[in-house]
Amino acid sequence: MKKIIVLTLAILCINLFSINICYAEMVMYNTKTHKYHQIWCRWAAKCTVNCIKIDKKEAIKRGGIPCKVCGG
Ligand SMILES: [Zn+2]
Repeated sequence: MKKIIVLTLAILCINLFSINICYAEMVMYNTKTHKYHQIWCRWAAKCTVNCIKIDKKEAIKRGGIPCKVCGG
């Protein structure tokens, strides 16, 4: 079940302001709170100090917690 969710997120494409954005598995990872966001998440946009753009697998490896808004 978990694998299916990950796979779905991996191929997620969204249409934002008429631009198709496809991010394979890159997330914005907050090194302080350990929460990770999808790149398009409004909370990711607000996170500028402690956030780094890393692979989702890497975020999970570091003990990342998926964001409740975007689902990580
Ligand atoms: Zn988020």
